[in-house]
Amino acid sequence: MAVRLNDDKEMVAMIREGLKRTGGYCPCRLERTEENKCICKEFREQMEDPDFKGFCHCMLYYKD
Ligand code: SF4
Repeated sequence: MAVRLNDDKEMVAMIREGLKRTGGYCPCRLERTEENKCICKEFREQMEDPDFKGFCHCMLYYKD
C-alpha cells in the first residue's frame, strides 16, 4: 500500500488552500466535524481497506 499526493500540482495547491481556509477540515465537505478533519475518516478507512485503490474524496491523495 502506498499513499501519495495527486500528481496534479495545481489540484494539490487548490485543496491545500481550501484546507488552510477551513483550518484543516475537508474543503469538499460542508460539515466541520472531527471525522471530516484531514485526513478524514473516510480516507483513513480506505487506506486500511486492502481492496481500495484510488483518490480520496477531494483528490488530494491517491492510494495504490
Ligand atoms: S477527502 Fe482528502 S483532502 Fe478531504 S479530508 Fe479526506 S483526505 Fe483530506
